[in-house]
Formats: sequence, structure tokens, C-alpha cells
Amino acid sequence: MTTEMRLDGRAVINGERVAARSGQSFDCISPVDGRILTQVARSSEADIDAAVSAARAAFEDRRWSGLAPAQRKRIMIKFADLLLAHADELAITETLDMGKPVKYARAVDVNSASNCIRWYGEAVDKVYDEIAPTSRNALALITREPVGVVGVIVPWNYPMIMASWKIAPALAAGNSVVLKPSEKSPLTALRMADLALQAGIPAGVFNVVPGYGAEAGSPLALHMDVDCIAFTGSTRVGKQIHVMAGQSNLKRAWTELGGKSPNIVFADCPDLDKAVQAAVGSIFFNQGESCNAPSRLFVEASIKDRFLEKALALVPDFAPGNPLDKGTVMGALVDKVQMDTVLRYIESGKSEGAKILAGGEQTMRETGGFYVQPTIFDEVRNDMTIAREEIFGPVLSVLSFTDTAEVVRQANQTIYGLQAGVWTRDLNKAHGVARALRAGTVHVNQYDEDDITVPFGGFKQSGVGRDKSLHAFDKYTETKTTWIRIDSPV
Ligand code: NAD
Repeated sequence: MTTEMRLDGRAVINGERVAARSGQSFDCISPVDGRILTQVARSSEADIDAAVSAARAAFEDRRWSGLAPAQRKRIMIKFADLLLAHADELAITETLDMGKPVKYARAVDVNSASNCIRWYGEAVDKVYDEIAPTSRNALALITREPVGVVGVIVPWNYPMIMASWKIAPALAAGNSVVLKPSEKSPLTALRMADLALQAGIPAGVFNVVPGYGAEAGSPLALHMDVDCIAFTGSTRVGKQIHVMAGQSNLKRAWTELGGKSPNIVFADCPDLDKAVQAAVGSIFFNQGESCNAPSRLFVEASIKDRFLEKALALVPDFAPGNPLDKGTVMGALVDKVQMDTVLRYIESGKSEGAKILAGGEQTMRETGGFYVQPTIFDEVRNDMTIAREEIFGPVLSVLSFTDTAEVVRQANQTIYGLQAGVWTRDLNKAHGVARALRAGTVHVNQYDEDDITVPFGGFKQSGVGRDKSLHAFDKYTETKTTWIRIDSPV
């Protein structure tokens, strides 16, 4: 399959594959072995302008927004089906481009992206507007309208899923979209645009413009004719997105940002093996490159030794391997920059006095790819750099506690508030601690539940707004009130 695939790095603007207007491109390097996969259009302001005008024209002439919701539904379901029909190609592309194991790219990324597009397609002709309970002489209609042109900027860790969480509700609601994928993993988003066209989404409605953040992302966030910008990425850039929205046309800005999620295991945890499996599995899944990874593990002191013994026994199961092999569970980090960042954090953990129990080194150097061993630090303090900053790699920091109020205080002592975990068989403690944790999602006695029906997003500096569920429609629609006077003759 890999030898038959043609990887096309050109932009998709107004239904056409096009090179950057400047003629420039950049190397798309595979983290699997460091080789160049293809050239990608190095888009800049002129390309963003072209994509935004195409999106605006499509919105204004209502070729998509004017369709009945049931018609949009049919096309979106076809789009979702086409993703599944191309599942192997998309999964292999994702693995080559970003380094994750192909078995997860296929079972998780492609399936979730397709499911998300199908779910919003199916939802859109089942959501009703409202009539307000006003006086008898008036009728107040409260209706939802698409915001218009939606700019989307996504990161590299789950390229198809992050894109679909935004484009699916935006398109279902009738908007036109300009998506800028990460420069580190642009290829599957570009293929999604081809398949959307094939499904019948009209040209100009869904445009994908690859390029660097400062060159293509900023012009999109600053564009005067973009009505809404939906961003997933780092807190650092997310803050700039809100500034750019304010500096330009006050476009609606929604941000899904970083995390440093606490996972609290009490001594009365109902199933220690399950807690260990979840703690280790969740931080090493996707090479630790997950915004919601439970990277700070708080274990009650009385069970810590037992917990760590079990955790260390699991580490060999996560040994990195070639992500194209079906048996591999941990692949390559997305690029050398990210690998070096992770290795720097590991050094900082050591130098600040944390004790390394497993891993800590680059591995599989001979491949030319970017692999880091699954790493566990014990004796971490909450004020150490590795407990405060998002590492975005396979590094687990273990802290211990003896007091419930104190562990909740420490768990909340972070700029982030994306997710958290609590493990206890005591119902009062579970509810009490879950309420006290300042996070968008709290997991109790598991850490892997996930469904398109539930909102996803963070408190504090983990962002503004929610992806997934019907709540996501709030981001891509304006609420309109229409007052109608009724001078009733009867
Ligand atoms: P990043 O912020 O560096 O980049 C994200 C996107 O923004 C990329 O497409 C990039 O090109 C673009 N960008 C960079 N600078 C820009 C600028 N000045 N103007 C406009 N766009 C710009 O993040 P990343 O390294 O790609 O992704 C990792 C981060 O994403 C982590 O912090 C992670 O927690 C976060 N993330 C959050 C969620 C969530 O749902 N909360 C999900 C996945 C990832």
C-alpha cells in the first residue's frame, strides 16, 4: 500500500488542488525514519486570501448554507462513509506523517473522524429552534444561523480527529471552512478535502491550506472576512489567537489548549490493576502526545510502592517500535524538535531531583526516526518543571499524598484545567473530589471513556469553548431573535 500511495501536499482551494501562489513548498519529513515523504505547499497570506474569498463566495451564494439540513446530512454521511472506504490509505498516511502506530491510526483516528462527521451530519436535521414565552401580542423566534466563514487551525497530534471536531459541526451548521492543518502533519487533512468534494460538498465550502503558523495561521486568524476562528494547539499560541481576533474584526475565537492533568489514586481504589493500566496506558498512548494525558499521577502514600511495582512491570509493553508494524503500540514522536523538547524535560526532571524509574533516553536511533523510551519519574514535587509544564511526550510524573484536601489543592495548582482522574470506592469521596477539581472533564474509576455525545474542553488556560456534542453548535452559529407583532383580530 505505501508504495502505491501518492502523497499530495498541495492546498485545496475552491475545489482545486493548487500550489502555493509564491511557488514555495517545504519538505514533509516522516518521523518514522527521518525521510522526506513529499513537498507541501508553503502557503501564505495570498493563499489564505484566495481560500477565504472562495469560502465567502460559497457562503453568500448559499450553495451549501442554503441546502435543507436533510440534504447537508446526506452529503456529510457520504463524506463519513468515504473516510471509512479510504481507511487504510488514511491510516498509513497518518502514521507516515506523524509517527503514531498504524493500528491506532486506523482504529482510533480514522474511525473517530468518520464517526464525528456522521454524528453532526445526522444531528443537523434533528435540532429545533425556539419560540420564547413572550406576551400574546408578540411572537419571538429564536433561531440559529451559521456564522459564515470559519477559520480552523489544528495541531499535529490527532490531525484527522482535531480537524473533524471542528469542521463537522461547522459544516453541518451551514458554514464555509478554511482549515490550516499543522505544518508537521498536513497530509490527511488535505485528503479529507478531496473526499469531501467527492462526497458532494460543493467547491469552495471546505478549503484546506497548509503552511507554517506565522505565515498561514496568522493571516487566517487576522483576516477581516473570517467570522470565527476555531483553534486547537498550545496555550501560548491560543492566547495570540484571542489577541488576533480582537485586533482584527472581533471574530468569534474558540480555543482548545494544553493540559497537565492530575490523576488521583486513593488507597481504597476499587481495582488497583485497572488503575495502574489506565495511568500507564493513558500517558503512553499516542507517545504521550495527548492534551488530556494524565501526566501528573498522585498516588496515596500507603499504596505507592505496590502501585509503582505494577506500573514498572507494564513499561516493557510500551517499548517503541516501527509504527507501520501492526503490533507496535508506541511509535515515533512527531519530529526532532518535539523529541529534543521531551529529552530536555527529562534532563530537567533529573536535575531538579526527581528519581527516574524507567526510560529517559532516545531510542531506535539507527532508524533515523524520533523515538523516546516510555519514562517514569518518582519523587516528583508539584513545583518541579516536569510537574508544571506540558511535556507532550511519554513521561509520567509520580507524586504521593496522604491528605485529601491537600491532594486536591495540588491537583488544582496548575494553569491548566483540561481533565482529571479520581480512583476510589467511596462514593462521597468520588463526588466530593470530582466537584472540587477545576477541570472540564473528571474521570472516576477509569480514564478512557470518550464519546462524541459529550463536550470536550477545559477550564482556565486549557481554553475557551467546547468541542464535541451538541454544545459545539454554539460555536459555529449566531443566535438571532425575530420579533413579530401580532395584532390579533380575535
Ligand atoms: P501549536 O500551538 O504550536 O500549533 C498549533 C497550530 O497553530 C498549528 O497548526 C500551527 O501551525 C499553528 N500556529 C502556530 N503559531 C501560530 C501563529 N502565530 N498564528 C496562527 N497559528 C499558529 O501546538 P502544537 O505543538 O501543534 O500542538 C500541541 C498542543 O496542542 C499542546 O499544547 C496540546 O495540549 C494542544 N492540544 C489541545 C487539545 C485540546 O482539545 N485541548 C487537543 C490536542 C492538542
